[in-house]
Amino acid sequence: AKDGGRNQLQFYTSEMNARVTERTLIEGHLRNALTRHEFVLYFQTRIDCGTGRVAGLEALLRWRQPELGLVQPDRFIGVAEETGRIVEIGEWVLYEACRQAKAWQDAGLPRVPVAVNVSARQFRQAGFVQEVRDALESSGLAPEYLELELTESLMMQNIEAVIGAMRHLKESGVRLSIDDFGTGYSSLSYLRRFPLDYLKIDRSFVRDMLHDAPGAAIVRSMIALGHSLGCRIIAEGVETHDQLGYLTQQGCDEIQGFLCSRPVPGDEAGELLHADG
Ligand code: C2E
Ligand code: CA
Ligand code: CA
Ligand code: CA
Repeated sequence: AKDGGRNQLQFYTSEMNARVTERTLIEGHLRNALTRHEFVLYFQTRIDCGTGRVAGLEALLRWRQPELGLVQPDRFIGVAEETGRIVEIGEWVLYEACRQAKAWQDAGLPRVPVAVNVSARQFRQAGFVQEVRDALESSGLAPEYLELELTESLMMQNIEAVIGAMRHLKESGVRLSIDDFGTGYSSLSYLRRFPLDYLKIDRSFVRDMLHDAPGAAIVRSMIALGHSLGCRIIAEGVETHDQLGYLTQQGCDEIQGFLCSRPVPGDEAGELLHADG
């Protein structure tokens, strides 16, 4: 038993070392990523359950790092948040998403909103609301085509300040979504105070929904709750026709997931819009 304990300790130690090495590696490469133009936006469409047409796109960040290859956000967003670098990266994402959306519109493609993920650290910057206005102005994109996705955990800290900033954003004309809904222990009594347009049901609920009755009931109540708040409901991570069928039957408004499209680079996303228009 003693030996087993020691082996476990060694195992943990080497795993911790590996994590520290990975973090140092990512942190180092992140330092120059923006100036070297290594970031790129991918886009995933979402579909209106009623019409089957593209209802919007979500911008998802990718990092083309010469030594690491195409790096997915789960590997670097956390580090970027801890180091504060997410603020300047997020600003780039905002401008680039607005630029791309305007370029699609100028090319005559169907006009749909583009959603951008906003990290807590970025949202809490004093100049954030102005930064959003600047991105809209410099790109020429009309505000109703920009959607900001805020996570539940972001919204539940400093609630009064968050509501204030959200009101200013709404006055500017942008749309607001609550992302990963169901994962962040929202206080239901506060939810109605946020000026929200969309509620995105987290993928974990969609995944489990058809396996047991409680899972299905949870999704049904989220849809009802969202509608009572005046939101459109988007289900994330929809991968099967059965899931689509159930969600449509329960009154879900839009679906996003691999069933419709994987996240793809901007030119391919433009083709998806074109095929739809
Ligand atoms: P998220 O905002 O919840 O984005 C949805 C994630 O689910 C994306 O992962 C997407 O590729 C994945 N996904 C979509 N449909 C399906 C499906 O049917 N099945 C499965 N298994 N997965 C699906 P991705 O692109 O790796 O992004 C992961 C997370 O990284 C995002 O989760 C978001 O929290 C964060 N992120 C991505 N881009 C940005 C960004 O520009 N800024 C910030 N702050 N965070 C970002
Ligand atoms: Ca999102
Ligand atoms: Ca999400
Ligand atoms: Ca998520």
